[in-house]
Amino acid sequence: MSASIKVRFAPSPTGLLHVGNARLALVNWLFARHGAGVFLLRLDDTDLERSRPEYADAIEQDLRWLGLDWDEFARQSDRLDRYDAAVERLKAAGRLYPCYETPEELSLKRRLQQGQGRPPVYDRAARNLTDADRAKLETGGHRPHWRFLLAEEIVEWEDLARGPVHFEPGHMSDPVLIREDGHPLYTLSSVVDDGELGITHVIRGEDHVANTAVQVQLFRALGFDVPGFAHLPLLMGDDGKPLSKRLESLSLKALREVGLEARALCAYLAHLGTSLAATGEETMQAMSAGFDITGFGRAAPRFDRTELDHLNARALHHLTFEEVWDRLGIEGADEAFWEAVQPNLAKLSDAAEWWRILHGDVTPVIEDADFCRKAGELLPPEPWDETTFKSWTEAVKAETGAKGKSLFMPLRQALTGMEHGPELRVLLPMLGRARALARLAGETS
Ligand code: GLU
Repeated sequence: MSASIKVRFAPSPTGLLHVGNARLALVNWLFARHGAGVFLLRLDDTDLERSRPEYADAIEQDLRWLGLDWDEFARQSDRLDRYDAAVERLKAAGRLYPCYETPEELSLKRRLQQGQGRPPVYDRAARNLTDADRAKLETGGHRPHWRFLLAEEIVEWEDLARGPVHFEPGHMSDPVLIREDGHPLYTLSSVVDDGELGITHVIRGEDHVANTAVQVQLFRALGFDVPGFAHLPLLMGDDGKPLSKRLESLSLKALREVGLEARALCAYLAHLGTSLAATGEETMQAMSAGFDITGFGRAAPRFDRTELDHLNARALHHLTFEEVWDRLGIEGADEAFWEAVQPNLAKLSDAAEWWRILHGDVTPVIEDADFCRKAGELLPPEPWDETTFKSWTEAVKAETGAKGKSLFMPLRQALTGMEHGPELRVLLPMLGRARALARLAGETS
């Protein structure tokens, strides 16, 4: 790939980003980084009623959390004059025409067409209006919306995700580019931005395929190079239904707040819908180096929270102390502690529970007090290291005859109050003799 790659992620700040949006942001970012290209963050905030600055801030925060840094930033509300200029060019070229139908009239037309078994394509009736007709409508207080006159030409492109895509003329309505209040619509603003900002590849959800068919003509009408396209199948919820921005529990904010690792989420999303499985070991750098956008299948992948949780645990097992210490939030935690507890964590925050078990009060679980008392008597003197547990348990085994699970489980339950956890070989020296002795005696300590 050439160094001239430039892609964009273009969310509308009308809600929180969810995992489906994150996947598209990530794929764009990986594509850019793979090709040593530019990743642009563009806020599509021309919908004044629904766009909110707090959502714009949240988008930036979410992308930073994921580790998706952007090289350039654009905001559509800063570029309104660019859209006006494009409108003038289209008008001058005879590609925009004013229409005065009300939404009710349009919907009636559509119903009639459908009733006759015809596709609900706008009939271009407004093109037959004379100057006098228009003057009359305007005097009557009607303001026009403006449609882009599609050319009678086949639109085709080689989609990086879908393969060849083909649209016949006559099956699409001339799209409305400007509302009655003079406001430009997404179809126009997106093309003007992609064209003027030099986007080489538009990577977005397959819900935009029909938009692309129209936009290809618009790129040409405005004299821009037509970018490459990749339309990925949309991520589905585990119920098989499309995700929506309103699904707050699948927002990045919610996933961050329940303590998921951004790294695990990125690994999960980058592999979802491909034939490869994430291991949890992937770094962003390795994923971008090996990224191939043609690896995504055509079927809509499902977001599986259980699989993500498993991957989260696996990702934690690959993180170094250096990578986590500032997020652990445990004063005094060191590398030895991290390495001891790391294999047992599902979430990073679980580490605090193990810190408490080692350094706070635990009520021992003791089923056989006699066995535990004997084991306490056999505790060797300090200093202890990771060989201590083996020599101690061999002595306990010789003295009591217990072996296997019946030897280790009572010791674990007494020492930690838990049935599962990090290896006792590693925990014992961290616990220290005094505390181990007290717990074997059944004392809360
Ligand atoms: N703001 C649009 C959306 O969120 C952008 C689509 C595109 O990538 O062109 O759907």
